[in-house]
Amino acid sequence: MSEEKHTFQAEVAKLLDIVVHSLYSNTEIFLRELISNASDSCDRLRYAALTDGSLIESDNSEFSIHIAVDKEKRTLTISDNGIGMNKDELVENLGTIAKSGTSEFMKSLTGDETKDVSLIGQFGVGFYSSFMVAKKVEVFTRKAGETQGWQWTSDGRGSYRITESDDAGRGARIVLHLRKESDEYLESLRLKTVVKTYSDHIAIPVILDPIPGEEESTEETLNSASALWTRPKSEITEEQYTEFYHHVAQGFDEPWHTLHFRAEGAIEYTSLLYVPTNQPFDLFGPERKSKVKLYVNRVFIADDLEGLMPPYLRFVRGVVDSSDLPLNVSREMLQDNPQLKKIQKGLVGKLLKELKDRTKVTSEYETFWSAFGPVLKEGLYEDFERRDDLLDLCRFRSSASDEWRSLKDYVTDMKEGQDAIYYITGADTAALKKSPQLEGYVAKGVEVLLLTDSIDEFWVTSVGVFDKHPFRSAAQSAADLDSIAKSEDDETKKDEEDKANDTDIESLITRLKDALGESVKDVRTSNRLTESPVCLIGEDGGMSLHLERMLKQHGQGEGLASPRILEINPKHALITKLTGQSDDIVGETAHLLLDQARIVEGEALPDPVAFSHRLSQAMERGLL
Ligand code: ADP
Repeated sequence: MSEEKHTFQAEVAKLLDIVVHSLYSNTEIFLRELISNASDSCDRLRYAALTDGSLIESDNSEFSIHIAVDKEKRTLTISDNGIGMNKDELVENLGTIAKSGTSEFMKSLTGDETKDVSLIGQFGVGFYSSFMVAKKVEVFTRKAGETQGWQWTSDGRGSYRITESDDAGRGARIVLHLRKESDEYLESLRLKTVVKTYSDHIAIPVILDPIPGEEESTEETLNSASALWTRPKSEITEEQYTEFYHHVAQGFDEPWHTLHFRAEGAIEYTSLLYVPTNQPFDLFGPERKSKVKLYVNRVFIADDLEGLMPPYLRFVRGVVDSSDLPLNVSREMLQDNPQLKKIQKGLVGKLLKELKDRTKVTSEYETFWSAFGPVLKEGLYEDFERRDDLLDLCRFRSSASDEWRSLKDYVTDMKEGQDAIYYITGADTAALKKSPQLEGYVAKGVEVLLLTDSIDEFWVTSVGVFDKHPFRSAAQSAADLDSIAKSEDDETKKDEEDKANDTDIESLITRLKDALGESVKDVRTSNRLTESPVCLIGEDGGMSLHLERMLKQHGQGEGLASPRILEINPKHALITKLTGQSDDIVGETAHLLLDQARIVEGEALPDPVAFSHRLSQAMERGLL
């Protein structure tokens, strides 16, 4: 019989290396992972058999997961009679990391053991966790509907072997040759505790086979095998909810929120949903798929069905079970099913209401918002119907406070004469707080929202208004600060300042424009600056400078160059002094000022050498 040797994909090899050499604590989770895979595999076969009944042989139709121990050979075997794998699937599933986002995750590993272990802890290692306790793993498997079985063998060090097997029943049998340190998993008591702790609510029975050599050892079902969501809330403990969360979300954190309810009326369904505490590792992957599992009458249908949960709630995990959906239609048809749309509406409504309730405890809500706010905000332009509910849930950093702020807070604290909600977009709040564009607003005590999520650029323009107040960029268009009541400090300060006369400024502006030519759209005076001499402003209605930079970073900004306006501060000493200088000096300084404004924006200079040359000359002039 031919045997094929394969090498693991580089990411898998790296993962295995960490699993084998660095993961010592909590080794018992391997059992949860293997039981979870076995249960998924039974679920998948049950679903496939809806359209092809012949996949399940009549004498092997009861799904179960068996655990068997051989103390002499020191093996622990976990077997299921689920869907199994053929050869290609073995290579694909147990030799590579096929899941989207996972390989990106692997790339993010640092090589620093402690950090990596904790990263992996959040992400879970699935099947590969068996190498925490086993020095060799064998998988005997036969795919439902096929006749040829396969054996996969590996010691977890770089490669694995695949060979044909006549000893593989339908499903998969995973034989772990335990390391010396892992003898505890040969003891029935230990196995019972682990299964009870981590897998009690797997809906398929987990059976411990009689252990040869152990007295009075009989076959025993270890888990309750009841679908947790079908049980009344009053009978379920917090621990049971958490245990089920760990199974269904494959998460290692605690659920931040658990929502268990039954909807009755036009359409009936039961749902057990969780909001995680931590961001799942693939939250920002390109697929944006929901991971909520759909069951019809306790038969698993899909865990990535579009239409069950909108993309902006893709961090929600859990189960929805309905008896009102047809069992035997294809997934594609189900996606467009009007009943499913009703379920989605019900789930979204309920979830947003629960989130709203939890805004009352600020510190707890902030944990949620920090993790999932950027995702939830996608709903602001994708779910028009829920826009107001979502705006209520949004929290922001702002120039006025170190606390998170709601839009209601903002509107309540608006200044007299202020109509708009001001915001500025950028990469981080600390840098934004220091933006020259904000100076005039801060001086007047006008709050500016600091928006740092990529998504902010998009929703803020599409939403347009909140509570009749328009959103307006503080870094774009003319600053309309004059109509806003000034604070007293501002008033006195202004009187003391000596301002260059208007004609001098007008003439300076003309000379600056001549010097800068095409590099700017316009040069004009500003009332938004108090400390800085200049700043760059995007054109009203144009693309923001921040968005332009983001697109360029992602290689999509080719040829983009929104017209920018250079605003000058007529009250700044540098500007007043400049009015009296020769055209040559004004010309050189114009370029320096523009480059300076670019640096403050965090932009690369088009000609750093010229900048450095001009700066040296200016310093020389200052020193001599
Ligand atoms: P995950 O379960 O998170 O996808 P794993 O590393 O645990 O990741 O497993 C990888 C894949 O291998 C699974 O997605 C599944 O396709 C396959 N697999 C694992 N165990 C089994 C099993 N007992 N029966 C059938 N397929 C399995």
